[in-house]
Amino acid sequence: MVLGGAAPPASLLKSPREIDIMARGGAILHATLQAMAAAVAPGVSTAELDAVGEAFIRSHAGAEPAFKGLYGFPAAACISVNEEIVHGIPSRKKVLREGDIVSIDVGVKFEGMFTDSAITVPVGTIDAGTQRLLDVTRRALDVGIAAAIPENHVGDIGAAIQAVVEAEGFAVVRELVGHAVGYAPHEELQVPNHGKPKRGKRLAVGLTIAIEPMVNVGTARTKTLMDKWTVVTADGLRSAHFEHTIAVTPDGPRILTLPG
Ligand code: MG
Ligand code: MG
Repeated sequence: MVLGGAAPPASLLKSPREIDIMARGGAILHATLQAMAAAVAPGVSTAELDAVGEAFIRSHAGAEPAFKGLYGFPAAACISVNEEIVHGIPSRKKVLREGDIVSIDVGVKFEGMFTDSAITVPVGTIDAGTQRLLDVTRRALDVGIAAAIPENHVGDIGAAIQAVVEAEGFAVVRELVGHAVGYAPHEELQVPNHGKPKRGKRLAVGLTIAIEPMVNVGTARTKTLMDKWTVVTADGLRSAHFEHTIAVTPDGPRILTLPG
């Protein structure tokens, strides 16, 4: 058995100049998510949140929402509430209530380069168990990012995430994964949130990936709603999602979706 896959294709590796462009777009993306999070409140619809995000992105020269029209998606943001894991379609009929959690997932295209980031935020006051779900998912993202160093492989990221999540009694979603990103919103390299150390493609310097644990309170299994987009937990229990776009650099992981 061969441990440790080959290097990723050179076509996925970005130059320092391209990574800097992604960081500038990523800073706009970070600020977009903060603006949307600030608008989260009981009584606000997910369509209103989406409008806040789209207007914010378009107020920056050179920036546009990357998800709008992508594979036919109708909005700038994927907004997923409670048992919805990802790909929720913003709607005026979907109104946030006290105690909900809402995942906001946005892509930005800036000067031809793409970044991708997501946060899950509480609506008003949430119960302690749900707060623990958010804390563990956020921590899972942090350990996944920390594993994104040039000596490691894609499997090291998933293994690190899976260990944190399962130690807390939660479940990692398998059907949806992180991915390479940069020249396109989704590039041809998958970054699962579970795995084994030293397996999968090597994390070569210049690789830019979206790391995005999706963590469920109950079963890991998912189903897709009739709208063909919204992915929910199979048991109806809650799910959280955090995501950053990072670059693998000689000095370790560089998070590109942070304040500028
Ligand atoms: Mg995303
Ligand atoms: Mg993504």
